[in-house]
Amino acid sequence: MNIEFSAEDEAFRAQVQTFLDSSLTPEMRREAERTTTVFADKDLAMRWQHMLVDKGWAVPAWPIEHGGVDWTPNQKYIWGQECAKAHAPGLIPLGLRMLAPVLFKYGTAEQKAEYLPKILSGEQYWCQGYSEPGAGSDLSSLKTSAVKEGDDYIVNGTKIWTTHAQFADHIFCLVRTDTSVKPQAGITFLLIPMDLPGIKVDPIITMADDHEVNQVFFDDVRVPQSNRVGPENEGWTVAKYLLEFERGGGGSAPGIIEALKSLKHLASQEKDGGQPLIEDPSFAARIAELEIRTDALQLQELMTLERLSSGGSPGPASSLAKNSSVEINQGLSELRLEAVHYYGLPNANKISLNGCNETWVSEDYSETAMARYLNGRAASVFGGSREVQKNIIAKVVLGL
Ligand SMILES: Cc1cc2nc3c(=O)[nH]c(=O)nc-3n(C[C@H](O)[C@H](O)[C@H](O)COP(=O)(O)OP(=O)(O)OC[C@H]3O[C@@H](n4cnc5c(N)ncnc54)[C@H](O)[C@@H]3O)c2cc1C
Repeated sequence: MNIEFSAEDEAFRAQVQTFLDSSLTPEMRREAERTTTVFADKDLAMRWQHMLVDKGWAVPAWPIEHGGVDWTPNQKYIWGQECAKAHAPGLIPLGLRMLAPVLFKYGTAEQKAEYLPKILSGEQYWCQGYSEPGAGSDLSSLKTSAVKEGDDYIVNGTKIWTTHAQFADHIFCLVRTDTSVKPQAGITFLLIPMDLPGIKVDPIITMADDHEVNQVFFDDVRVPQSNRVGPENEGWTVAKYLLEFERGGGGSAPGIIEALKSLKHLASQEKDGGQPLIEDPSFAARIAELEIRTDALQLQELMTLERLSSGGSPGPASSLAKNSSVEINQGLSELRLEAVHYYGLPNANKISLNGCNETWVSEDYSETAMARYLNGRAASVFGGSREVQKNIIAKVVLGL
């Protein structure tokens, strides 16, 4: 599908391409391309963040006076398109794109001055303490408690699935400060340094053998009340505002288009019964179906862009886009795994497979295929599960 942008937009695209060409090393591109987890490798992402900070392009969505850029929605989309084409690493969104908008809206002047510059420079690395063993989709049932004592809160409880908690020096947390009211009315939003006494992080190793998520335990952790964002017991409003940014994300079609190209290349190299896989009618039909769905997703994202350009908000389109992009990505990872077949097994490239003498699948494809497939399953759960998005669509779009 060809989308026309204005001459000014295309001039901006050329400027972006020149910057990406001169900044991204082949090693950075290759490492980014081999990412199989939700977030890019922390060191790679931070290296890229520092380069973008130097250029002044790290946080286009922030207010200009805090380091943002005055890009139009089209320019932001073009930036995403070109980063996907260039295989730029993803930035870690936890501080930059999730906590920062919350601080702009609800933070005190002191909190903005204390945290925003350190989030931008990468001096602080944040993680998100929302989910608990008994509270995920039904987040408002969370139980981690914070009880006032002098100028502090004493925090007890546990958070789970905390991405990159093993690296983070800070966690933004939802805690229960009132149990006598309806669940949503007794929640408070706290900023907690991870080095306070009483905090413990246990790793959770996924089926893909990655350490990306953790369980965090709080045992009588003393947190100053000045670390609260927004009023006490009004954390639910703050939490929901943050989720708009977690779920809103950027356009995902540009990245999917690149993944499709890569799958087609792989399928043209791999042979099945002497014939390139891409010429197999059933395999080709499944690629075509994903391509059609990608076109529809791209169109939907561009319509959202138009709404944003005229001052609107994404609305329920973000739920539709989330489910579509997850399903397309899962379909892609499935075909990729089928294409590399037994070379997708862990370590398959390093052992002799029954002495067979076929052309080996490139390690870039085979070593990551299984992990991509397995990690891709998690996408229908995090950031608002598939069923929860469907409930939103049923209610808000279909009026059911
Ligand atoms: C890789 C990964 C990283 C994550 N990172 C973080 C993080 O950094 N910080 C954080 O706080 N959390 C994180 N999470 C947690 C994530 O937000 C939760 O997993 C998610 O909210 C779902 O909650 P749950 O796991 O308790 O599942 P549940 O809510 O118990 O859902 C289980 C199943 O029931 C379905 N279901 C639930 N409610 C309904 C309903 N009302 N109608 C229909 N179906 C329903 C769900 O769709 C799902 O299929 C992460 C999760 C994953 C997988």
